[in-house]
Amino acid sequence: MTHQAAQVVIAGAGLSASLAALRLAGAARVLLIDQRADPLAGHTWSFHAGDIHASQRAWLAPAIRRAWDGQQVRFPGRTRGLRSGYASLDADSLGAALAGVPGVARLTARVASVDAGGVSLADGRRIDADLVLDARGFVPHPAIQVRFQKFLGQELRLAAPHGLTRPVIMDATVPQRDGYRFFYLLPFDDTRLLVEATYYSDAAALSANDQRAAIAAYAADQGWQVAEVVREESGVLPIALRFDPDAFWRSLPPDVPTIGLRAMRFHPLTGYSLPHAVRDADLIARHWRQGPRALARELRRTSLADARAQGFYRLLSRMLFEAAAPDERRRVMARFYGLPEPLIERFYAGRSTLADKARILTGRPPVPVGRALRCLPGALRADPA
Ligand SMILES: Cc1cc2nc3c(=O)[nH]c(=O)nc-3n(C[C@H](O)[C@H](O)[C@H](O)COP(=O)(O)OP(=O)(O)OC[C@H]3O[C@@H](n4cnc5c(N)ncnc54)[C@H](O)[C@@H]3O)c2cc1C
Repeated sequence: MTHQAAQVVIAGAGLSASLAALRLAGAARVLLIDQRADPLAGHTWSFHAGDIHASQRAWLAPAIRRAWDGQQVRFPGRTRGLRSGYASLDADSLGAALAGVPGVARLTARVASVDAGGVSLADGRRIDADLVLDARGFVPHPAIQVRFQKFLGQELRLAAPHGLTRPVIMDATVPQRDGYRFFYLLPFDDTRLLVEATYYSDAAALSANDQRAAIAAYAADQGWQVAEVVREESGVLPIALRFDPDAFWRSLPPDVPTIGLRAMRFHPLTGYSLPHAVRDADLIARHWRQGPRALARELRRTSLADARAQGFYRLLSRMLFEAAAPDERRRVMARFYGLPEPLIERFYAGRSTLADKARILTGRPPVPVGRALRCLPGALRADPA
């Protein structure tokens, strides 16, 4: 396929673009354009089983590296197993799934601008298409105020089995510094696992060397002997404190469908964007033939509705970052993970009920919902904060 023959051109070839291409499999000729030659490299993308529907899981399945039937969290004095499943994609598994899709081409180039009819590249070339999606990742915007979840992870091969059968999504038994600090463990097989040093921090800076040393110390504490550091990944994810979705979407062109972090499509408190990217990929598959304006309208409608419904999670982000002192953040998280499991699952999926919200915000035992609501002006409405 020549570049000019693509029906759908996607600017950016990261997670959201790749999932859109995977979902369009065979239905459209897709060109993925990224400034990086290997845009998926150095990523593991995970999700909670309840975050996506069975039909979505079915088309995503070829891209999944590993799935587990439960997960664990650890806090001082409390280790809790959660039954909700967990699954991870990585650069290899997603790349391999995409390689098997007919009609997907790639171009390494910097995109200078995107419009409804095509993209202009920084080197002066122009590529026209029936539909252009903007998936160029996060850029700061005045309508959103963020803090950071930052991490450095190493995939380790150990000399002997580590003994973990399920992910440990937070091991917060470690000393607290630079905000809320925990380790994240994904056991890919008996001896191979991803170990990530993670922080919910006010500052985006992270010293790679310090984190490498911290991972080595953590592994030694667990009694693990590292045979090989297979690869490394790091990230600084936005956590949203305040967002005015109407102002944000007003600033985007009405005829350029925008997805992924470029469209602020992420869970305000976890920074996870995979479930949103999966939903948007479904939407693209349903509407792409109707043209850019109709698709952009659908994406905007869904994104606005989601963002308005996520006011509660932004309130929690503010409580974590602004109300709790950095060394108190672990206590806030520990209390949350003492709540009933169905509530935790709905929280991950961004589908908390009114009663869940009241329970999360109030002490135990839960106070009557009506009384809790009066304590929360704005938090349970579709507020823009
Ligand atoms: C290491 C890491 C791990 C993460 N783990 C998880 C996780 O477990 N679960 C989860 O849900 N989320 C996770 N996230 C958060 C989020 O889901 C990812 O950041 C995700 O990749 C965002 O997808 P995206 O398509 O919006 O942006 P990206 O995947 O960042 O893709 C954007 C792409 O656009 C390209 N680009 C930007 N500007 C231009 C330009 N002008 N021209 C050409 N190309 C351009 C970039 O090179 C990049 O490849 C993780 C993030 C990181 C960094």
